[in-house]
Amino acid sequence: QILLPQEISEDVSQNEDKIRPQKLDDYIGQKDLKGVLNIAIAAAKQRQESLDHILFYGPPGLGKTTMSLILASEMGVNCKITAAPALERPRDIIGLLVSLQAGDILFIDEIHRLNRVTEELLYPAMEDKRLDITIGKGQSAKIRSIPLQSFTLIGATTKIGSLTSPLRDRFGLIQRLQFYQLDELTEIVKRSAQIFNVNIDSQGAEEIARRSRGTPRITNRLLRRVRDFAQVKGVEQIDQTIASEALDLHNVDRLGLDWTDRLVLSTIIEQFNGGPVGLDAIASATGEDAKTIEEVYEPYLLQIGFINRTHRGRIATEKAQEHLLG
Ligand code: ADP
Repeated sequence: QILLPQEISEDVSQNEDKIRPQKLDDYIGQKDLKGVLNIAIAAAKQRQESLDHILFYGPPGLGKTTMSLILASEMGVNCKITAAPALERPRDIIGLLVSLQAGDILFIDEIHRLNRVTEELLYPAMEDKRLDITIGKGQSAKIRSIPLQSFTLIGATTKIGSLTSPLRDRFGLIQRLQFYQLDELTEIVKRSAQIFNVNIDSQGAEEIARRSRGTPRITNRLLRRVRDFAQVKGVEQIDQTIASEALDLHNVDRLGLDWTDRLVLSTIIEQFNGGPVGLDAIASATGEDAKTIEEVYEPYLLQIGFINRTHRGRIATEKAQEHLLG
């Protein structure tokens, strides 16, 4: 679980609120995104309007929720956080929408998973600040419109391709979050270490950063494991050796690959001659779930150029072979 980009309960219980950046200036990396949002904030403030609806997409753990909370605080409004699976019944979304105050942000995670009825309630809400509610059934059914306060919907998704086009078209800004660079992740380690009151040198911070799969959520989790290790060993300052020893113990290799990543790569290389091979064949040969491979392991392996996707299947690259041998 240590390298899972999705949130686990430990992330939430362990000082999550403290390490989450609260201001745009504390939000490390994502330069292009911050540039776009800075303008959007300034323009909305000048016009005294709420922000346009925004769609964030990209892998989990890159800071979509964090950015939404920052936007709310920069705009001086509230942010209500929910996720599509919690909006099963029409009254769930209706309740949320009518409770919003002028300018508030409604953040819906996994927005590609909204059901059709909920999604259709959102269309007039997003477009015309209006809820159209059907009362009664059959021929006697009537539509009643309820006016809403102006609000900003922020949707987050890992799968932009699964969004319907009517929903996608209603977002004024569609922004992709990128995996983080090594220097940015190193900065995140240093910032979180300060909050945790942990003494770490630059090489130690960089070692954790290098193994965190471009993902701040993983960075913070690895830092917590290294902190435990250093504490038990009675080490005053975490350096590269301590960070490496601690993470080796958790089977996180020097590029942030774990046992399953290595199994997936070695299976493609050894059993399928390096590929191309289909996802299902990889799944059955490794005993892993195809969806898990696709959603959890593959994005990072693609990002670092260890896997290529072709129309005939996945190929393991030479870089991957060298890493496994090294
Ligand atoms: P997502 O919503 O994309 O899954 P989150 O916003 O929950 O990701 O971010 C996961 C964690 O990573 C946050 O708790 C936060 O502490 C950290 N984090 C994310 N982005 C940044 C950033 N740009 N700078 C510093 N920390 C970050």
